[in-house]
Parts: sequence; C-alpha cells; structure tokens
Amino acid sequence: MATLYLVSTPIGNLGDISQRAIETLKNVHYIACEDTRRSSHLFNHFDISLKEKTVTSLFGENERSKIPKVLEWLDGGSDVALLSDAGTPLISDPGEKLVEKVLEGSHNVISIPGPTALISALVISGIDASQFFFEGFLPRKASDRKKRMEFLASLPYTSILYEAPHRILKTLEELGLICGEDRKIAVTRELTKVHEEVFRGTIGEAIKLIEIPKGEYVLILEKFSAERASLPEASELKEIYLKLVKDLDPKEAVEVLSKEYGATRRQIYSIVRVK
Ligand code: SAM
Repeated sequence: MATLYLVSTPIGNLGDISQRAIETLKNVHYIACEDTRRSSHLFNHFDISLKEKTVTSLFGENERSKIPKVLEWLDGGSDVALLSDAGTPLISDPGEKLVEKVLEGSHNVISIPGPTALISALVISGIDASQFFFEGFLPRKASDRKKRMEFLASLPYTSILYEAPHRILKTLEELGLICGEDRKIAVTRELTKVHEEVFRGTIGEAIKLIEIPKGEYVLILEKFSAERASLPEASELKEIYLKLVKDLDPKEAVEVLSKEYGATRRQIYSIVRVK
C-alpha cells in the first residue's frame, strides 16, 4: 500500500530536522510542498537531490485541485511526502483535505514527527501545560474574533494562539479587554531562531512592553479560573443565578451577573452551566 508521509520540518533552526525526515525526503519520488522555492533551501541544505523526483506546490488555495494528482501517484504505488513551509503540516497549514481523501482512498498516512511552534511555545511558557486548547490564528472579522476570544477567555484550559507581528498588539489589547489585563500570558517570538524571546507576565504588561513587533509569535494564554476572576464560589453564583431567573429569562440573568462581576457571559455560563 502506498503511503503519504506528513513530514515535519524546522520552524527556524535547521538543526531541528529529524533523521527520519531527511531519509523520507530522500526516498520518496513525489513531494508536495507549500512553497517549492522555500523548501528548495531545505533540500539543498540536506543534499536531497531532486533529480529523479517530482516536486509540486500544494497550498491553501490549490489544495483541492492538487488532490487528484497526489491520489494518482499513490494509486500507482508511489509514496508521497507532504511538507509545509515550517513545522508540522496541517497545523495551521494545508493538508487536511488531502489527508481526508488519501484515507478515503485506503492509502497509508504516516507522520514523521518534528517541530511545531505550538508545543515549543507551550513548554517554555511557564503556564499550565497539562491540558490545553489550540486556537491557531483568530478569525479576521471583528465579530468572529470577539466570539472566539470570549470562548477562549472562559476556557478552563490553557489556550494557544498563532499571530502575525502586525496584529500582535491589537490581539493583546482585545484579549486584555475580554480576559482582563491581569490574565497571565506568555508571548513567545522567533522560536529556535537567533532572536528567540519569551515574555512571561500579564496581558497588561505585555501590551506595555511590545514596541515594534517583529517575527513570528505564539501566545500562551492562562486558563480561566473563577477564583482569579474574583467571582463568588460556583455554588454561590448558581444560587444568585437561580434567584435571578425567577424574574428574568436565563440570558438576562447571565447578562446581569456578567456586568456585576466583570466576567464574560461565557464565563458565567460555564459556572452556572446553563443548557
Ligand atoms: N505548521 C506550523 C507549525 O507546526 O507550527 C505553523 C504554520 S502557521 C502558517 C505559521 C505561524 O506559526 C506563525 O505565524 C507563528 O504564529 C507560528 N510560528 C511558526 N514558526 C514560529 C517560530 N519560529 N516562532 C514563533 N512562532 C512561530
């Protein structure tokens, strides 16, 4: 059975590539990569000869149209490697639709694990790494962003966000408004590269510190905790809620509590567990 290999590549430091990644790229005859020019640096650096290989681009906009070609190679019995510009394919990168179709076609899909920015950032953040939620990039549309931020603000798990430098300050400011500026955050930048940096503190402190954002960022946001939000005990809050819903509908009651305690509606919902 032919195999699609999902090959993780370095997120900055080329020394982070795995032996298996190099071997896989040397052995396959077909490679699909996000940007053929970017990946050619990697191939040159690791002496991966493209002489007997077919290399094709596969990125967000052309992923669907490239699927039949990749399936044709696999159907013909050849293995294919998929790599993105950096890190692990499918993680805020193309490949998901391809994997779906390759599995439907009863081919193998094998991961060649390696770097991914979210895990590198999480483990150095100093924030609870035991349970976490990966958001990736927030939506661009203001109303959708707000909804996602409200969701993250009330999550009882650490959240991980990817962000571009030109939006980092805006994102921190919006997170500050929704989560409160005293929520802990780690702002990690340029991981594995020469200018790797980590800021660990509150959202408010981060906003003051970041002046001219440059490079690639991962944000690690502390989970919601009722105690830190200075909300009453969950049982007390539920009691207040139950009293309120005698006169108000549940939505209004949650709104009242959210205003009273400076918490988001989602945070209140998550405590009173309104269905
Ligand atoms: N597939 C990649 C992975 O496994 O992490 C992510 C690709 S996504 C298009 C690019 C985003 O990942 C960047 O905008 C940034 O948020 C994050 N990222 C990638 N490399 C990074 C690095 N060296 N330092 C910090 N963040 C990085």
